[in-house]
Amino acid sequence: MKQFWEDGLRFSCQQCGRCCCGEPGIVYFSPEEFDRLVAFLGKTRQLGREKIIAEYMKPWRDSYTARDDFEDGHCVFYDHGCTVYDVRPSQCRDFPFWRCQLKNEKAWQDAAKSCPGMNRGRLWSADEICAIAANSRI
Ligand code: SF4
Ligand code: SF4
Repeated sequence: MKQFWEDGLRFSCQQCGRCCCGEPGIVYFSPEEFDRLVAFLGKTRQLGREKIIAEYMKPWRDSYTARDDFEDGHCVFYDHGCTVYDVRPSQCRDFPFWRCQLKNEKAWQDAAKSCPGMNRGRLWSADEICAIAANSRI
């Protein structure tokens, strides 16, 4: 089936932080991603696993989601940018090439209304998009 993105899609993050704030949601860290986060925060903030769980995480499915139970709904790791950027979970890495946003052009354009980086900047090829979407959990 012909995909609306077969000639590629443009996206360059504008670092506005909108996708890390606002509506509460799930920022899922798989068990492997959580291990990487623990190693990172152990090194950068000298925090142990139990402290990280207590301060930053909520249980979710087989692992954890980042806390966002703040008045403005921001992710606990957001502070003028992602403070755990190198170990952010695949959900954040894959955005905006989530399967649910690639299923048709309307879904893509709807998402673009709240992400100023979509439809501008770097042209991502269909092969690149396919590779990201294949691993996307969303
Ligand atoms: S909403 Fe889009 S442009 Fe803004 S930080 Fe998120 S990905 Fe980048
Ligand atoms: S982990 Fe980082 S990139 Fe992902 S929502 Fe939180 S602050 Fe944003």
